[in-house]
Amino acid sequence: MNEIRIATANDFTFDQPGYRVLFGIGTFARLREEVERLSVKRPLFICTPGRRKDAEQAAMNLTGMAATVHAEAVMHVPVETVTAASDVARQHNADNVIAFGGGSAIDTSKAVGLQLGLPIIAIPTTYGGSEVTPFYGYTEDRIKKGRRDRKMLPKSVIYDPALTLSLPPKISGSSGMNAIAHCVEGLYAPNANPVMSLLATEGIRVLARSLPSVVQEPSNLNARTDALYGAWLAGMVLGSVDMALHHNISHVLGGTFRLSHADVHTVILPHVAAFNRPAAPEALGAVAEALGAQAAAQALYDLEVSIGAPTSLKQIGMPEDQLDRAAELVVEHGYYNPKPVEYAGIRQLLEDAYWGKLNTSL
Ligand code: NAD
Repeated sequence: MNEIRIATANDFTFDQPGYRVLFGIGTFARLREEVERLSVKRPLFICTPGRRKDAEQAAMNLTGMAATVHAEAVMHVPVETVTAASDVARQHNADNVIAFGGGSAIDTSKAVGLQLGLPIIAIPTTYGGSEVTPFYGYTEDRIKKGRRDRKMLPKSVIYDPALTLSLPPKISGSSGMNAIAHCVEGLYAPNANPVMSLLATEGIRVLARSLPSVVQEPSNLNARTDALYGAWLAGMVLGSVDMALHHNISHVLGGTFRLSHADVHTVILPHVAAFNRPAAPEALGAVAEALGAQAAAQALYDLEVSIGAPTSLKQIGMPEDQLDRAAELVVEHGYYNPKPVEYAGIRQLLEDAYWGKLNTSL
């Protein structure tokens, strides 16, 4: 097994598309400016059902424009939900899409925007990072697939920490761990570069510091601001360098077994960190350092426990009799990973994750 080294400043490609970012408490009030910059007048807000009321209020505030709301976005973006959202956009004669919410709303918006050639403004309200990545995930026949195209990237992203105050502690914690997972995998990506590695370690630091406060004191705006900043850093890493085994497993478990996206990421992360450590010791060493700990896997597990996040697949509804099938799907996917991905190792990893038993002896 060749050891994967962390990216250095000797030889790399940096290829980052541009988008505008408004970051800060109260920036949501500047939505009109961003819409006007696009010279459009018929926005379609896309959100999940839970965000409908806030989206309708925001649409009403855009006086003089014909704004409307489609509040039917669903996690893992079943392909039928994209068709339905595109139909609504056509009927409304929408000239832009406003993605309002977490990754479910944003991925649905990116799919619609790409299909109809409409510009997107994203207003993320979780820590998932989809707002700055040039791809979206969707499910078809219970298999999670993806589509990549830079044209889907939002023109503007509005990060207003005040909008995350209502995100329940349980979702906040898992969503933050989802962001940390982007940073961890970014550090051993085959196309890692030193700039993204800086963002990744800083993202881990900021998120690990802020998430306990976010969960214990959900109305703490300073902690919410830090967490959202960390989420942006993590999103940039996710959008710029390739992910590996952790994202592969999470997509299989989420897409095929309909488990919560952020919860799956949360449970799986320490197990993948332990699995990959022998092949990528520098990267996992950098993760440990960012967490102020000796070992990345244990520190990630401890962080989960400290924020009351789920630590086992059993807890989040994974059927035990489907672990064989899940391991097969993960191996079939053939994603890059620093350590070879073989059935026996993955089946054992899933078994450990099912029971929440971290194997640090790998
Ligand atoms: P989500 O968008 O599904 O939201 C989870 C729940 O939180 C929903 O019920 C939603 O209504 C609610 N919610 C969101 N913001 C809220 C707020 N501020 N206050 C109260 N409730 C709020 O969760 P997610 O984990 O962000 O997104 C998961 C989906 O995003 C998956 O389909 C995943 O594949 C995708 N995703 C894509 C990318 C990408 O780069 N393309 C990155 C991350 C996630």
